[in-house]
Amino acid sequence: MTATLGMVLANFFDLRINPPISHRFARLGAAMLFAVLSGLASARAQTPGVAGVDATVIEDIVIGSRILADFGVVDGFGHLSARDPANPNHFLMSRSLAPALVTANDIMEFDLDGNAVDPRGRSVFLERFIHSEIYKARPEVMAVVHSHSPGVIPFSVSQVTLRPMFHNAAFLGAGAPVWDIRKDFGETDMLVRDPARGKSLALLLGDKPVVLMRGHGDVTVGPSVRVAVFRAYYTDVDARLQSQAIALGGEINYLTPGEGAKADAVNLAVLDRIWNLWKMRIAR
Ligand SMILES: [Zn+2]
Repeated sequence: MTATLGMVLANFFDLRINPPISHRFARLGAAMLFAVLSGLASARAQTPGVAGVDATVIEDIVIGSRILADFGVVDGFGHLSARDPANPNHFLMSRSLAPALVTANDIMEFDLDGNAVDPRGRSVFLERFIHSEIYKARPEVMAVVHSHSPGVIPFSVSQVTLRPMFHNAAFLGAGAPVWDIRKDFGETDMLVRDPARGKSLALLLGDKPVVLMRGHGDVTVGPSVRVAVFRAYYTDVDARLQSQAIALGGEINYLTPGEGAKADAVNLAVLDRIWNLWKMRIAR
């Protein structure tokens, strides 16, 4: 390809520059022009993001990470990833970095075993296997959020089941199982630091949108970054509201599964409204 372009340029000069200028100079000019064009191509390859990946997906990871940080769903920890739409066997996530600091230049590409495709010495998240194993198990999932959101933790360690309190958290009507790492792996550092732990977590998630992690946090998934972020945010809001309702005492009138399904369909249809609001707020 590059050789062909070089020949085309050389022929261009051969055709138009006659005896007053030797072919040697003509070819030199072609080489110089080719070098300039190559430089421009190289500059394009170095623009933020991952080469060959849709810039919109990269942008959504960056914006989504900042939204989650600004609204307290994540702090210095937690991460967001997206499956590469052009290569379903790869996913994209930041190098090991606090979500609020993520830029397009920090996004890396991984295979479904959690290996970085082009590591270049960058440090990666220990818990990337949460993402890789869910992408393996759930072909339709295009984005994954892992957070340690404070509202959720009580529901990961108590006997109270997290349930949908209001329409924005309707997706919880499908259930939010609690994964206990101790069950399969004994006493650990609590981190999903290898494929076996990620696979166990993905197995309990099943076909649900959310799984809680005992003494750790939760994972939300979705068909896009925006949906996964929406679910991470409203899982935390719902958990806080449920704790408040429990504190009030008496029986709680949760959404029924039927109400949950109907309300979730509406939420997914109007999701860009809240996404655009969040995006504007983090831009201030
Ligand atoms: Zn974690």
